[in-house]
Amino acid sequence: MTTTRFAPSPTGYIHIGNLRTALFNYLIARKAGGQFILRLDDTDPERSKQEYADAIMEDLEWLGLTWDRVEKQSDRLDRYQAAADELRASGRLYECFETPVELDLKRKKQLNMGKPPVYDRSGLHLSDAEREALRQERGAGHWRFKLDHERIEWTDGILGDLSIDAASVSDPVLIRGDGQFLYTPASVCDDIDFGITNVVRGSDHVTNTATQIQIIKALGGNVPEFAHHSLLTGPQGEALSKRLGTLSLRDLRAQGLEPMAILSHMARLGSSDPIELRTTMDELIDGFDLSKFGSAPTKFDLEDLRPLTAKYIGTLPYEAVADLLAETGVPADIAPAFWEAVRGNLETRADVADWWALCRDGADPMIAPEDVGFVATAKELLPAQPWTTDSWKEWTTAVKQATGRKGRGLFMPLRKALSGRDYGPDMSHLMPLLQNHRL
Ligand code: GLU
Repeated sequence: MTTTRFAPSPTGYIHIGNLRTALFNYLIARKAGGQFILRLDDTDPERSKQEYADAIMEDLEWLGLTWDRVEKQSDRLDRYQAAADELRASGRLYECFETPVELDLKRKKQLNMGKPPVYDRSGLHLSDAEREALRQERGAGHWRFKLDHERIEWTDGILGDLSIDAASVSDPVLIRGDGQFLYTPASVCDDIDFGITNVVRGSDHVTNTATQIQIIKALGGNVPEFAHHSLLTGPQGEALSKRLGTLSLRDLRAQGLEPMAILSHMARLGSSDPIELRTTMDELIDGFDLSKFGSAPTKFDLEDLRPLTAKYIGTLPYEAVADLLAETGVPADIAPAFWEAVRGNLETRADVADWWALCRDGADPMIAPEDVGFVATAKELLPAQPWTTDSWKEWTTAVKQATGRKGRGLFMPLRKALSGRDYGPDMSHLMPLLQNHRL
């Protein structure tokens, strides 16, 4: 069965870049009728926090990206230990004692000599006596996986045929000196045990994939299909990494952006398909095709989410917002008509409060100096309340006859005078909703 996972580390809030990864994996699983697993990569006890794990789940739920199963790496340390023992027994795991400073120095020397900064495997060549002496002197070492020096090849779902020379990559550290398992062994064990068939993640993971393929094989697991999506940049192509802090899903929610707008955008951005608003998850799932995504960095502009949000809100039927309107104080008898009138004029749902305030209290007239006389004449001709959908027509016809004005020169000053704004719903629909006016 097609099984995918989204594997955030609960060390912070998830942002728009994480969402892209989550969404692709979600859509692949759902399209295939498979399973989508939420995996919390919480092997780092200092940085992982329950509050972030909770926030990640809340954000995914808000978006409607439901998972079939949730797993925590911190629950699986015994399994990682067993895998480490297995690799040790097969000679694929070896202990090293260099400090970070020493490793850094080695790397600098290699770079100075024009060589790639690949770990020199000193740890692998220690004699038992040397190893024991180092342990006495420095305490337990960290453990590296011994890569087979061959080419690692796979057909990437987005990048196509890839081939990485294992000799150009350092043997990855799997276990720290303090015994903490790092992301790599945990991720590999989980991908094997949970039967992960497809892994989509950012292109910053390409080298990890190469080493993980060897570790999966060393542990006798099945290698999933890998795909690496491009990373997001800002609208000018600038790196987004520093700004991602302000692009958390919580921020987007706080700004009133709609889940379906965000999902519609992100499920197509960077692909050869046009970005169009989709109003249901099923439509997004049906149209999703990973092979349509390109490898070039993908420009993301937060502003693009605003028109899609407005458009989405405009599609909502009254039933979808009945609660919101009731909370805003719109009386139930006029709420459906109110919604029909204003829904095409909202940037976010929060805007209903402004339109309702206008309907309830009226607004100070907006009158340009050159229209003062005109508006005074119009005021005399204003039909008596209660107004109906015919009242606007009646009024404008009367004003037209009295003043000779027509078109925009007639309608716009009247709109501004009555609603205090130069934009908004069809006045025929707005007028009957105005409980008060200040003209
Ligand atoms: N926790 C890892 C990350 O957020 C997961 C990477 C993966 O998908 O394997 O980068």
